[in-house]
Amino acid sequence: MKLSCRASSIKPSTTLAITAKAKRLKAEGKDVISFGAGEPDFDTPDYVKDAVKDALDKGYTKYTPVSGIDELKSAVAEKFLSEYGIRYENSEVIVSCGGKHALYNLFSALLDEGDEVIIPSPYWVSYPEMVKLADGVPVIADTSQNGFKFNLQIFKGSLTSKTKGLIINSPSNPTGVLMDEEDITSVANFAKEHGLYIITDDIYEKIIFDDKRFFNALMVDKSMKENTISVNAVSKTYSMTGFRIGYAAGPKNLISAMNNIQSQSTSNPTTFAQYGALAALKGGYDFTVMMRNEFQKRRDYMMDFFDKNIKNIVPVKPDGAFYIFADISKVFKESGNEINSSAEFCDYLLDKYLVAAVPGIEFGNDNFIRLSFAVGIETIKDGLNRVREAVNAICKIA
Ligand code: PMP
Ligand code: GLU
Repeated sequence: MKLSCRASSIKPSTTLAITAKAKRLKAEGKDVISFGAGEPDFDTPDYVKDAVKDALDKGYTKYTPVSGIDELKSAVAEKFLSEYGIRYENSEVIVSCGGKHALYNLFSALLDEGDEVIIPSPYWVSYPEMVKLADGVPVIADTSQNGFKFNLQIFKGSLTSKTKGLIINSPSNPTGVLMDEEDITSVANFAKEHGLYIITDDIYEKIIFDDKRFFNALMVDKSMKENTISVNAVSKTYSMTGFRIGYAAGPKNLISAMNNIQSQSTSNPTTFAQYGALAALKGGYDFTVMMRNEFQKRRDYMMDFFDKNIKNIVPVKPDGAFYIFADISKVFKESGNEINSSAEFCDYLLDKYLVAAVPGIEFGNDNFIRLSFAVGIETIKDGLNRVREAVNAICKIA
């Protein structure tokens, strides 16, 4: 069958594919350690599960309004007001099937053919593909020479007459690098000056280490409300990836267009999952802080392990999220070119040492791999010892 050009040009999500492959190997009885997962390994809090059970018992099993139940949209609006000082009406909020779906709706509603979106690289795997699905053009802005910082210089260098918007994901998947207030402010001014939309993907905003602070465009300049669309989800903050509940807030006409698109594709997000998300948003951050503290311990352990034991792999120290993005270019050199790409290295790790990691090429940088630390510390210890063995076996000097 001849598929559409659109379908033929889209890659499947590698992060999901690698996680699925690791799970399959485990199910076959192989002792696989997966650093692939992009989801917290903690159980969803009980109060959230109870809210879902209660919703089912009450018979909340039918359609809701397309953009979500009013109580949930109000809870989202309340979060924006209390945390960022920005007031949204419920008509400026939409609940979708995960942050991913909110982004998909957003690009479909915002972009015409040929419209450009600046995406700092390394980027989360889905951004370029989603922009392409909406007939837009992803313009990749490399941050590797800039300490992986998303600052004004990065966006300025990619501006053309076709630029419609730019994506900010801070802390970033895959680097964990966080934008500071000064950089956010200068990028917000730049967007305003050129009439660009800022798409701020704040999904990791609550997973930030070392008492550093999160900033987005709305927090530094209230007038940014006119050209900012915030995307977020309960997925990472409350370990609810399977609920598939995300949300967006932005200009009313854009949210309304996203609502129309959602009404013709998925209809409302799952009804009882919305009640779980409502309980999560109203339940405070004790659970999230517990999880964040644990992630920080794991990050520190991993950074220390690389520093002491695996000289040929150089990790970027993440300020947040739960990934280590690590430079493997020394392995290419020291292996006498036996390994030449991030995909080859990840294949080698999985085939010979049963360790799953995601090749950096999927995030736009072939000199790196991504290791998720959304796995317990004992598993991390075992996994890193295997990585050390793998590197020592292939490199002339360890
Ligand atoms: N943005 C980023 C940067 C992510 O890492 C993810 C993880 N899947 C998402 C958005 C989407 O999250 P979800 O659809 O699971 O809510
Ligand atoms: N965002 C997660 C990751 O980067 C989940 C996988 C996905 O949605 O692609 O691994």
